Amino acid sequence: MPMTRWPFTEEHEQLRKSIRDFVEAELAPHAEEWEEASAFPDFVFERLGELGYLGLAYPEEYGGGGGDYLCNVVLAEEMTRCNSAGLAMGVAVQTDMAVPPLYKFGSEEQKRRYLVPAVAGRKIFCLGISEPDAGSDVAGIKTTATKTDGGWLINGRKTFITNGARAHAMTLVARTDKDAGHQGISLFVVDTDTDGFRVEKTLDKVGMHSSDTAEITFTDMLVPDEALLGKEGEGFYNISWELQGERLIGAAGAIAGARRSMEAALAYAKERKTFGKPIGRHQAVRHALADMATEIEAAQQLVYSAAWKVANGEYPVREISMAKLITGEVAWKVVDKALQLFGGYGYSMEFPIQRAWRDARLIRIGGGTDEIMREVIGRMEGL
Ligand SMILES: Cc1cc2nc3c(=O)[nH]c(=O)nc-3n(C[C@H](O)[C@H](O)[C@H](O)COP(=O)(O)OP(=O)(O)OC[C@H]3O[C@@H](n4cnc5c(N)ncnc54)[C@H](O)[C@@H]3O)c2cc1C
Repeated sequence: MPMTRWPFTEEHEQLRKSIRDFVEAELAPHAEEWEEASAFPDFVFERLGELGYLGLAYPEEYGGGGGDYLCNVVLAEEMTRCNSAGLAMGVAVQTDMAVPPLYKFGSEEQKRRYLVPAVAGRKIFCLGISEPDAGSDVAGIKTTATKTDGGWLINGRKTFITNGARAHAMTLVARTDKDAGHQGISLFVVDTDTDGFRVEKTLDKVGMHSSDTAEITFTDMLVPDEALLGKEGEGFYNISWELQGERLIGAAGAIAGARRSMEAALAYAKERKTFGKPIGRHQAVRHALADMATEIEAAQQLVYSAAWKVANGEYPVREISMAKLITGEVAWKVVDKALQLFGGYGYSMEFPIQRAWRDARLIRIGGGTDEIMREVIGRMEGL
């Protein structure tokens, strides 16, 4: 019988074990190869879909597992065992970022056409929010969708788009009324094989090498009326809803990854000797590891508390923003300290900690920076 730990149940722990076995057997052995290829292969989505991991919390009528939100947290935590955060991120974009708006705001027709194949792993999704001149300031986007005969004409540019070079469909944020401010933004779901959709380039990054990140342009791209996702003019509010899920799942993965780096450093501290004893027996190292373990525990509890609220139907923006902020800062601090404890080997490309260190930096930027989290929290504190 698997041990349980709040907020998880026995079913969650059984799911955890199945995902862990799969990730360790089928994904982790390929980490190096996929990092070097700058993209994990598309069949990973198909395999995850086949196993039911891309739709754990959706109803069975859409091919989902009928579970709760905590199942997605389990997936994000166990995906860290693939030893390549880029792969985990590409999958999280599908499960917790680009596809949830289809379930929440999509018509029945859109659910059948996009949600069902996304859950099955037959359609890969990306999420198009950020632009060269607008990331934190989502309302500052310039990509336009203009109502025309037979649909919407889309023009503009998106950047930093995870899965963008390979996706079959994009959940897109575009401006439908240039004079209406936040009310002038709408969501769309578009097929990437539509004329006018073009992948301009894939971007070189510090880390997350197994994840493709693309810059995309739209030139007079005509999409049908039915491409509108949710109501016209409600896109800013709907994408703000999406961002909460994105931030919380990012936080869950980041802190689980930090725990793995801490465990690797702990094992090394027991084995590496200096001045006649294992480095973990030097008080400074022992205390460093104690701090790492304590900060991880505290940050992870905040993630669990927010996730438990989400699983129970709440929308805890304050706690999610706090969880994203603290996990980013703790993960970065922990991974940096872990690298330090490996000494010169930590700086060598032959030890995996360098990849964890490069990958961990992103969580403080992607999906809303530390500064934006502080803005959200500060405003919710009444400032
Ligand atoms: C690897 C990677 C993958 C990504 N994947 C996606 C994706 O799939 N889809 C997508 O749409 N986007 C994606 N992004 C984009 C990401 O979400 C943005 O980079 C992020 O939101 C920050 O936006 P920006 O880069 O435009 O920075 P800016 O908004 O230009 O910010 C620059 C700096 O100014 C600070 N700043 C901005 N406003 C304020 C303020 N009001 N107060 C204080 N400080 C402020 C920021 O915190 C930051 O430090 C990805 C980015 C990366 C690097």
